[in-house]
Amino acid sequence: MNAIVYLRISQDRAGLQAGVERQREACLRRCEERGWAVLAVEQDNDVSAAGKRKRPGFEAMLAAVKGGRVRYVVAWSLDRLQRNRRDELRLYEAAKDYGVTLALVNGPELDFTTATGRLVADQLGSLARYEIELKSDRQVAAQAQAARKGLRSGGRRPFGYEQDGVTVREAEAELIRGGYRSLLAGESLGSIARDWNEAGLHSGQTRYAEGHKGEPSEWRRDSVRVVLLNPRNVGLRAYRGEVVADAAWPPIVDSATFEAVKAVLTNPARTHRVTSAQRLLSGVAVCGLCGATVHAGGTTRPGVANYRCSGSTGHFARMAEPVDAYVVEHVIGRLSMPDARELTVRDSHPDLATLRSEQHGIRERLEQLVTAFTDGVLTAEQLRVGTERLRARDAEIDAQLADAGRVDVLGELVNAEDVRAVWDGLSGARQRRVVDILMKVTIYPPGRGTRTFRPESVGIEWKGAR
Ligand SMILES: [Zn+2]
Repeated sequence: MNAIVYLRISQDRAGLQAGVERQREACLRRCEERGWAVLAVEQDNDVSAAGKRKRPGFEAMLAAVKGGRVRYVVAWSLDRLQRNRRDELRLYEAAKDYGVTLALVNGPELDFTTATGRLVADQLGSLARYEIELKSDRQVAAQAQAARKGLRSGGRRPFGYEQDGVTVREAEAELIRGGYRSLLAGESLGSIARDWNEAGLHSGQTRYAEGHKGEPSEWRRDSVRVVLLNPRNVGLRAYRGEVVADAAWPPIVDSATFEAVKAVLTNPARTHRVTSAQRLLSGVAVCGLCGATVHAGGTTRPGVANYRCSGSTGHFARMAEPVDAYVVEHVIGRLSMPDARELTVRDSHPDLATLRSEQHGIRERLEQLVTAFTDGVLTAEQLRVGTERLRARDAEIDAQLADAGRVDVLGELVNAEDVRAVWDGLSGARQRRVVDILMKVTIYPPGRGTRTFRPESVGIEWKGAR
């Protein structure tokens, strides 16, 4: 008489592993008492009853039943044996077809060759399922209630806070604030991830990959993005993607900064990728002939970078180095002036809430226009005219929202003893952002046959404090 033992544990947290060992011992003892030969012990671990993940142990056990290799399936209890209605039915069908008995250590022996056995099994199965559903209902209700009160409802420790979810963990909070500042200063998510990894503070998640299991997970672009977009950092409680209450914990950043970062990260036009091939004025300066942006590349001599018009290759190609040096001297000169601090003072503080609600309205209107077009109410031309103005205003609002970060970009420079030293220490992305805030740079063709740099071939127009 062959038996197969099946063990399952729903969560592999400390202490529960001991539970599976106890299940195993009890099941093996049952086999021994009855004189059943144990064909195999199948086990599924760390698999939630409500989850959708495969259970390789369960499948192997079912295959053994269907292969006619076993007469008994031994398990701790019915709810350890089955997980959902579908698996439950598969097991009952197989047990019935192959005349298998389910022997439960913590319950009856169900002989599926008899009608009584089948009836009892069905009833027990329904009860187990009912309990699973009830538990899940209770959990969902408890979570929703906690959310409405602004409380946390368990889970992993949030980055920036202690395990209680309320006390700020200052070292991590400082890193998060730095992340917001860097992003508004034009840094990429990737470079923020590098900063955070270098600081040695990890995401709190552990890796699953074979050979790295259990090691702390490194920050990546997407995980940094998730942290920066989390309303938790401004002291708001979100539930299923919606902010539902003021949170019970203190904020890490102010809402102006948060909204500005949100505008930057959720802007669909954000395709901005900083590559090492970029130079100071890439995408910042414009062509003096056509107004298109200028990009770097297309070297005529090895090792010498050029600026070119992105609109037409015929407009110009000129050495980038002297143009950069000329612009940098102007930037440092301006930021070293006694009144440089005034650059960070804005006369009008944008009302972020109003801007966001206006933007929301614009996006709804855009959707309505597209619907009207697809319904045949509008012509393509009408759609184009209708959306153009809205899109322009939408982009304007994005810029204003992102501008809330202006103080942070220039602040470090205008307060420096040695502006040049601070400038030299900035990343390329951040230098580009500073230039972009301060001035409009226009690049003209260098002039025929000239080998010297002529200042009049580069136009600098100060943007001034807003
Ligand atoms: Zn051009």
